[in-house]
Amino acid sequence: MTKEHTKCLIIGSGPAGYTAAIYAARADLKPMMYAGLQPGGQLMETTEVENFPGFADGIDGPAMMAQFKAQAERFDTDIRDGLATEVFLNESPKRVIIEDKAEITADTIIISTGASAKWLGLPSEERLKSGGVSACAVCDGFFYKGEEVVVVGAGDSACEEASYLAKLCTKVTMLVRKDHFRASKAMVHRVEKIKNIEILYNTDTLEVLGDMGVTGVKAKNNKTGEDIEVPCTGFFVAIGHKPNTDIFKDQLDMDDQGYLINEPGSAKTNIPGVYVSGDAADKIYKQAITAAGTGCMAALDAERYLANLED
Ligand code: NDP
Repeated sequence: MTKEHTKCLIIGSGPAGYTAAIYAARADLKPMMYAGLQPGGQLMETTEVENFPGFADGIDGPAMMAQFKAQAERFDTDIRDGLATEVFLNESPKRVIIEDKAEITADTIIISTGASAKWLGLPSEERLKSGGVSACAVCDGFFYKGEEVVVVGAGDSACEEASYLAKLCTKVTMLVRKDHFRASKAMVHRVEKIKNIEILYNTDTLEVLGDMGVTGVKAKNNKTGEDIEVPCTGFFVAIGHKPNTDIFKDQLDMDDQGYLINEPGSAKTNIPGVYVSGDAADKIYKQAITAAGTGCMAALDAERYLANLED
């Protein structure tokens, strides 16, 4: 196992990690980044991104991440493949193990490990991921303007996605597997009041229909056994996200779902010198632009921490 030291270690390579890298590198922190399981993050699974400012004509997710990477490399970020598998954040310096390959000690660590959308696990869902299946209404809803869509899920996210889509689409059908929502009462009241949202309770999703693009959803009422087919062109899965924070358990403060807790108005965690950015600490906004913003905050916080150490 190789051993190295860096002033600033960035774990994860989505918009948060790359933005942190650009800021840290330009501040001469010579950041080292481990790109993780999915270099580029969730945007590598996205087609067109139309809501990231600066790309007036839109850009494909992977092409956008290539730009982020090139910009981080332009300022000499040391970007490496590899997954952080163990961390020792209370040691001085902090220590991170990269699989069985490397042991990195660091003065500051920026966590940008992101979150992963949960999927139903249907083969048809996987097959149609670039043809109408999405896990983000704010990202993809626009493509279904004036069309009919389906949202699966019964939490706050599903209600928010359905309300958002109802403004763009002629009809939104929500498939709820139980006879009630998990979402807060206020959110449920909101969707119940929207005229073009239809809620189907006790409904299990069986298959997403369509060859090249989504044409409908096959479902079943789990009380009556009735088969249901809902025509739609967009299929939105909103059954939750899982933050990629397992390795930080028992060291960093996190909520009951594993989202890291930052000090409000900063990227600081409960351990000085350790910062969090992006979806690993965000269950509300989950946007590339918000991740990038907090990546910038994390790098600025790390820079100030190092400057104070040197004083
Ligand atoms: P949740 O974990 O709260 O809800 C997930 C929902 O998905 C549940 O209703 C669950 O159903 C359903 N589900 C899970 N698996 C399946 C499946 N295989 N088939 C059908 N349905 C399924 O996730 P959210 O993303 O909604 O919210 C995460 C957290 O973020 C929550 O704490 C929420 O309050 C918060 N949040 C807050 C917002 C706000 O305040 N504006 C906005 C968005 C999120 P079941 O109920 O049957 O288990």
